[in-house]
Amino acid sequence: MDNGPATRELEPSAAIPAPPPCGRWREVRARIEAAARQAGRAAEDVQLLAVSKTFPAAAVRAMAACGQRAFGENYVQEALEKMAALADLPLEWHFIGPLQSNKTRLVAENFAWVHSVDRLKIAERLSAQRPPGLPPLSVCIEVNVSGEASKGGVAPAGLPVLAAAVGSLPGLKLRGLMAIPAPSDNPVSQRAAFHRVRVLFDDLVARGHALDTLSMGMSADLEAAILEGATLVRVGTALFGSRNPQHA
Ligand SMILES: *Cc1c(COP(=O)(O)O)cnc(C)c1O
Repeated sequence: MDNGPATRELEPSAAIPAPPPCGRWREVRARIEAAARQAGRAAEDVQLLAVSKTFPAAAVRAMAACGQRAFGENYVQEALEKMAALADLPLEWHFIGPLQSNKTRLVAENFAWVHSVDRLKIAERLSAQRPPGLPPLSVCIEVNVSGEASKGGVAPAGLPVLAAAVGSLPGLKLRGLMAIPAPSDNPVSQRAAFHRVRVLFDDLVARGHALDTLSMGMSADLEAAILEGATLVRVGTALFGSRNPQHA
């Protein structure tokens, strides 16, 4: 696993005709490029995380053949099975789902990134359980900007204290923030929520944190997120199709 700053997609093989997943992959890349251009940003500054939860290892392998390297998973056991089946590929695995204490060891041992750190106890366990032979685990703090009590994420008021504590843990590298704002069809309210995350990100940078990752934007709202400064969009449905509602 590679913990380097920006993930570069692998080169797609030029001569082979594109199988269907690569058509969807190219469409999502084109959406990212168009939004980056509109924002006056370089497309390379926005990383695509392919969210493969509920899809089998074969679907991940097909997407990897298109040039995709970073994959996001929500369920630990499901992810470990895919990692075992795909161990021959140079993939980077990101844990993006809610994380319980009893799962931290498996996550610390097997993933390169965790996007969903929202309390100190989880961060401390991940740090302590990160194997010494691996680079520090890259983490984002999940922030709840929609005020939905049922949702994960630290409240904005608690962010500076949590970031200071997480940033000092030796097994972790604090990379930035992640957010999942309440879904909205309205681009104006989508942007407003992402803007709140951006302001919190800038505040942490002003407090001295060296952050490089703003993980926000999904299939339905990645353009709004990129316009507000997302450096990583987490895309499932637009790449893999609809998920089985049982799992979603
Ligand atoms: C499932 C999931 C996604 C992908 O959502 P889509 O709408 O399918 O693109 C992104 N982020 C998180 C945290 C998820 O759980």
